[in-house]
Amino acid sequence: MPTIEQVVARDICVGCGACQFATRGDITVQRNDLGYYRADLTTASPQSIATGSRVCPFAQEAPNEDAIAAEVFPAVLREDPRTGKYLSIAAARVTADDYLLGSSSGGLTSWILIQLLETGHIDGVIHVGQGGDGLFSYRISRSRQELTARRKSIYYSTSFNSALHSVHGDGQRYALVGVPCFIKSARLLCREDRTLATQLIYFIGLVCGHLKSAAFAELLAWQCGVGPNELAAVDFRVKQPGEDAGRYRFGARAKAATVGGADDCEWTTRPTSQLLGGNWGHGMFQLNACNYCDDIFAETADVVLGDAWLPEYRADWRGTNVLLCRNAVIQRLIDRGQAEGELFIAPLSAAEAAQSQAGNFRHRREGLALRLADDQNAGLWAPTKRVMPDANIVGSRRRELIRRRRELSRASHELFATAKRQGSLDLFIERITPLVQQYEKYNTPSLPRRLLGLAKRRIKLILS
Ligand SMILES: Cc1cc2nc3c(=O)[nH]c(=O)nc-3n(C[C@H](O)[C@H](O)[C@H](O)COP(=O)(O)OP(=O)(O)OC[C@H]3O[C@@H](n4cnc5c(N)ncnc54)[C@H](O)[C@@H]3O)c2cc1C
Ligand code: SF4
Ligand code: SF4
Repeated sequence: MPTIEQVVARDICVGCGACQFATRGDITVQRNDLGYYRADLTTASPQSIATGSRVCPFAQEAPNEDAIAAEVFPAVLREDPRTGKYLSIAAARVTADDYLLGSSSGGLTSWILIQLLETGHIDGVIHVGQGGDGLFSYRISRSRQELTARRKSIYYSTSFNSALHSVHGDGQRYALVGVPCFIKSARLLCREDRTLATQLIYFIGLVCGHLKSAAFAELLAWQCGVGPNELAAVDFRVKQPGEDAGRYRFGARAKAATVGGADDCEWTTRPTSQLLGGNWGHGMFQLNACNYCDDIFAETADVVLGDAWLPEYRADWRGTNVLLCRNAVIQRLIDRGQAEGELFIAPLSAAEAAQSQAGNFRHRREGLALRLADDQNAGLWAPTKRVMPDANIVGSRRRELIRRRRELSRASHELFATAKRQGSLDLFIERITPLVQQYEKYNTPSLPRRLLGLAKRRIKLILS
């Protein structure tokens, strides 16, 4: 059986749209009523299903990240099992503070895109911005103004089929921005489609913890007083000058008509960490695909950018990127930006880059090994990953935590859809809270670990 069928049957589809593009729409990919894109194979021909399996990032017929990276990057790149290949690794930031206010992190992603455009390496950028199908969708930007307006992290399910269609065969060159699995499927599409391969010139990856359905934006906005039907726009990362970079706020704006037809509604913002669902550890509205992902640093992208969640950078409100470059042209642009004072760059080791994503590694290495083992024991199909199934990779407490998180993620989708239908935020809160509490029970360190921590702090105090 072509494994894309298993991917879809087990809800492991991430909704990227690669199968739809490759089959000219014979496979359809649409947003479902739970707020995420999903492929529908029911009317697709056997030939389309075979094609879809070759471009799907979770199907077995497609090469894995290691094989793609070996194909697309020169052999001279260094390599680390945690990060994939790299030319350089650094902590990085644009030096203009006013620019940084409009970016999620250190602003390097949009800075690199602007440089690629203005130095004539590309004619446009395919990336996610406001508007289109839902609050956000894949858009095409062709100017500094558009690229500057479409910044920040979009934690929202999207699909790139329509955007790729709109540029296919237009003779222009593009950079594609995406989370690791989208970059992988775009690379796979280029193996199938020579025209696309000549057009997608740069692949810009975003470090990825997990992707959210549209419900994430709706739940956070609802808690800001803007209900799902009134919601016009959200900002997932409002920076707080002077605060720790991780203490960003969430912003929501209502549609104009809902406040008496005024042209511009005010943004309401609240600290993300104080909102139910704002804790990434809970994995609320995470797509199930992300339970089967082992690529944190977009190992098939020319450059990948994330947040440098290391103590010295976390403390800086401006935000700092962790950056891994795998492309000589992009490296030259970065070197020039540093020499001209536009960029702050501080080299990091692969270990430090991995340390900046410690939670991600727990979820995507030991967590993945356990989930694969659980599936295997339940007789369920799961994609072959670079991580082996292992039910004993962690102790019993952590095992329980990983399972609770998976259950919390799974349940959140349906519970929110029901609450939305009934127009009751309270209903969602009431039903999800016991699951959050069960998770949190295993999230606090056990008594022996707490005592050990206490003893270590005492010894430190005596020695100092
Ligand atoms: C779903 C998701 C999960 C993430 N998880 C982590 C994580 O666990 N750890 C971590 O360190 N970093 C994570 N990131 C990356 C981080 O949030 C920042 O996006 C990244 O550091 C770039 O910041 P910047 O200031 O350089 O980008 P900016 O200068 O703000 O520019 C962002 C650029 O990325 C594009 N973009 C934003 N979201 C998307 C998207 N979903 N698909 C395609 N293009 C997009 C924008 O259009 C814009 O061009 C995640 C990002 C996403 C989208
Ligand atoms: S993950 Fe992408 S390629 Fe695979 S089935 Fe879903 S939409 Fe299609
Ligand atoms: S966690 Fe993995 S599967 Fe999920 S969106 Fe990110 S890259 Fe894709």
